[in-house]
Amino acid sequence: MTRAVYPGSYDPVTNGHLDIIGRAAHLFEEVVVAVLINKNKRTLFDVEERQEMLREVTKQWDNVRVDSWHGLLVDYCRENNIKAIVKGLRAVSDYDYELQMAQMNHQLTGVDTLFMQASPQYSYLASSLVKEVATYGGDVSTLLPATIEQRLQQRLAELR
Ligand code: ADP
Repeated sequence: MTRAVYPGSYDPVTNGHLDIIGRAAHLFEEVVVAVLINKNKRTLFDVEERQEMLREVTKQWDNVRVDSWHGLLVDYCRENNIKAIVKGLRAVSDYDYELQMAQMNHQLTGVDTLFMQASPQYSYLASSLVKEVATYGGDVSTLLPATIEQRLQQRLAELR
């Protein structure tokens, strides 16, 4: 089975992530979207909420699963017999860091990283930017699925 993992924070999932997930689902027999838990990163949504949102918006793909992982991504790959890591690249600025990570992961276990270019209409999109714009009342309705936008607005209202 050609299984790939698409790791990230997904705080929350955006249309840019969904574009990569859909395209990866055409290329691999199974795609696992893995919410990576990073204790040093403060998030707006907890890991359960992020997984729940991902499950909701990926249910159209039968071969996409959602999971979470606390630890090294290469260990997740090893335990789940995953040979490929999928990463989305938005701009050259993503590349330096991602290349270093990809080389380190390959060195550690031989796992390969495949880069998919962001679709032009999403190449400026990042969860952090969406949160910032929404915090100040900007319209983010075209950047996220409607249900995710509702949850984002609700969470921001709770924090006000
Ligand atoms: P963000 O930068 O939005 O907080 P994550 O840490 O959740 O993203 O990223 C998960 C993966 O999705 C990474 O490989 C990241 O480069 C990729 N990604 C994020 N936004 C986009 C986008 N708009 N288009 C393509 N790939 C993206």
